[in-house]
Amino acid sequence: MTSSASARLEPPAPARGPLVLLVEDETSIGSLLRGYLERDGYRLAWVRSGEEALLELGRRAPQLVVLDVGLPGMDGFEVCRRIRARSSVPIVMLTARDEEPDRVAGLELGADDYVTKPFSPRELAARIKAVLRRVDSGDPRDELTVGDVVLRKSAREVTVAGKPVGLTGKEFDLLAFLLEHPGIVFSREQLLDRVWGLAYPGGTRTVDVHVAQMRRKLARPDLVQTVRGAGYKAARN
Ligand code: CA
Repeated sequence: MTSSASARLEPPAPARGPLVLLVEDETSIGSLLRGYLERDGYRLAWVRSGEEALLELGRRAPQLVVLDVGLPGMDGFEVCRRIRARSSVPIVMLTARDEEPDRVAGLELGADDYVTKPFSPRELAARIKAVLRRVDSGDPRDELTVGDVVLRKSAREVTVAGKPVGLTGKEFDLLAFLLEHPGIVFSREQLLDRVWGLAYPGGTRTVDVHVAQMRRKLARPDLVQTVRGAGYKAARN
């Protein structure tokens, strides 16, 4: 069966790939992207306004959002801000102009990357892949360095300016997780899930307490940053 010519010519099986929420009001661009990304193995949920995007985000759990800046009603920046208030889902923004203020605004609001129109679907697909890879796998290296802070996973050791810092097990795990995903914002719920495990019965306050202790011990306030209304992220090196 599997070796027959007809099987090879059939359209791909229903994709089980990552679910992408596409927010784009222009039909021509939306259908082009949907076709391309579905062929690439993604599942697509396509909405045409920010209001619908926020609703959809509450109903489903996309692995990534592709968000156009120019939308009817609420613009993409406002949508980005509102998504970040409740979720750290990766966001790739589609900006209409290659203007610095637009790009900076998007990234400051917590977008993970952006593509400037006009762009090729191939370029967008490459960005999506890169962002998902960064979020999924983290940094595989044993030694992670940001400024004068060095973390060695195998030795479970952290030094600041060459001096060892005594972190508790969970403080270490939390720091390691954040440093493995530099620049990516994680909500308190996600950090509880990823660092403590789903079974952990405590509340999100636990995360704040650990971050505060870790910051005090490291004395590097910019290393782990609070993103208001969203969560925490580690500085990029
Ligand atoms: Ca648009």
